Amino acid sequence: MTNTLKMREMLLNERDIVAGDECPDCQGQGKKHYANTSTWRYGIGGAAVTMDVCDKCWGSGSRTRTWPSHREFYEMKSRLENG
Ligand SMILES: [Zn+2]
Repeated sequence: MTNTLKMREMLLNERDIVAGDECPDCQGQGKKHYANTSTWRYGIGGAAVTMDVCDKCWGSGSRTRTWPSHREFYEMKSRLENG
């Protein structure tokens, strides 16, 4: 095992993620680069690469233990505020 792989596994362990269970979109980081400024919000995009929470694992970094969806939360919040 190379030092890079050992370091990667150590970083995953720090986040309580077993190697092989890391999110395929963010590789266990819980955040990722979006090609424009709209990020996970699907808003109007600008011309800059933007880092934001991963829209597959919602920050957990795990493929199987995802955190609650920011999109579902904001949809629910909008329904409650707007009736
Ligand atoms: Zn992810």
